[in-house]
Amino acid sequence: MKINENCRHILLTLENAGFSAYIVGGCVRDTLMGMPIHDYDITTNALPQEITEVFADYRVIPTGIKHGTVTVLHNGEPFEITTFRIDGEYTDSRRPDSVIFTADLREDLARRDFTVNSIAMDLNGNIFDPFGGEDDIRKGIIRCVGNPTERFNEDALRILRAVRFSSVLGFEIEKNTAKAIHTLKNRLDNISAERISVELMKLLDGFNCIEVLMEYRDIIGQIIPELTAAFDFDQHSPYHKYDVYEHTVRAVHAVPNELECADILRLTMLLHDVGKPAAFRLDENGRGHFKKHAIIGAEMADKILHRLKFDNKTINTVREIIYRHSDEITSEKQIKRILNQIGLDTFLLLIEAKKADNSAKHSFVLAEIDEFNGFAETARRLVAENACMTVSALAVNGDDLMEIGYKGKDIGICLNNMLELIIDEKLQNDREKLLDYAREMKI
Ligand code: ATP
Ligand code: MG
Repeated sequence: MKINENCRHILLTLENAGFSAYIVGGCVRDTLMGMPIHDYDITTNALPQEITEVFADYRVIPTGIKHGTVTVLHNGEPFEITTFRIDGEYTDSRRPDSVIFTADLREDLARRDFTVNSIAMDLNGNIFDPFGGEDDIRKGIIRCVGNPTERFNEDALRILRAVRFSSVLGFEIEKNTAKAIHTLKNRLDNISAERISVELMKLLDGFNCIEVLMEYRDIIGQIIPELTAAFDFDQHSPYHKYDVYEHTVRAVHAVPNELECADILRLTMLLHDVGKPAAFRLDENGRGHFKKHAIIGAEMADKILHRLKFDNKTINTVREIIYRHSDEITSEKQIKRILNQIGLDTFLLLIEAKKADNSAKHSFVLAEIDEFNGFAETARRLVAENACMTVSALAVNGDDLMEIGYKGKDIGICLNNMLELIIDEKLQNDREKLLDYAREMKI
């Protein structure tokens, strides 16, 4: 078992000061699974004040003193160190009203959510596993520590966390835990949007997310009720082999992990067709149409993401992509127009969204994916060539127009007309030619 040098140093420092100290939670689980560790959580019988004293020469951040957590930085790496604790009463399904510090490691492990997260490991790799977590890791099972109903009633976020771990680790949720998840899902309504969003984003990133999003779609429906109309919604379309929800789920999974903004794109795909049920119309030939679903969906996504307290930049990007996701791209001129509206970065995401969307339809539409890659290349080339796609790139500006007698809103109108003509290749972005045009058009 490999614990990294910085972490060993922290554990040793606590031990040398007479305390016991263990790594715990995700880092132990991931170590036992042979997966990379992204951060270490440490649990100790030292009280927050004592931890602060032991690390007097280090940078110590009082992350959550009330809950017994301080963060110590060593060689720039942060370590969250938490005193062994028992959580007090939960009256709001959110956070314990109080915590009690304890000297007993077992009690600390008992307050944790799932058996696979309730294993502690000391400096020498000795394992403390009172709830059978190692066995559950071997079998690939997510199981509550103790009675699932009680544990979900204490903190309903655990409902979503169970589903998230199932998605990320590819583990099955144990029968009684699964039953309690379905029964108690409405408790999620008490959980803050911020905590929900964090878990949702991790869930979407799991390699097992198709299975989980299908099996636990009621949980998704609890946090995003707007998606429930998509469940089993037959598209009546030759392009689609899945109902709207299954198509959605498969499109989320089709986003390549290596993309820089994969997380935003997954969120986009989760919501890209949320407007479809409301836009649905069946024609006389029995074929489904979803005119304006992208526009309706963009509005709905905006509302959903505000409610889930996502940041404005994410919300705007998702909305802009959904708004255009079903537009056909037919020409370089059109690419220039879209670039003018949303810029290169969002355009490239739009193309990725179109690819993910197509991957979740009948396979004959996959042929379009090459074409989509071509659009991305064209867009990159246009930007690299400094092609004129915005008013600010015109060879003249508002002052120039004022000098030849333009006033007020006529200035903006004229600049935009010139830009349109340039994009349509009917006018060159040449200062003299633009001034001639402006003089000619002046009433
Ligand atoms: P990740 O790999 O995402 O960091 P993790 O298991 O480390 O997974 P964290 O959210 O970092 O998850 O939490 C650290 C540990 O704290 C968990 O492993 C678990 O033991 C405990 N924990 C976290 N949230 C809860 C909760 N809501 N209820 C009970 N225990 C929790
Ligand atoms: Mg963690």
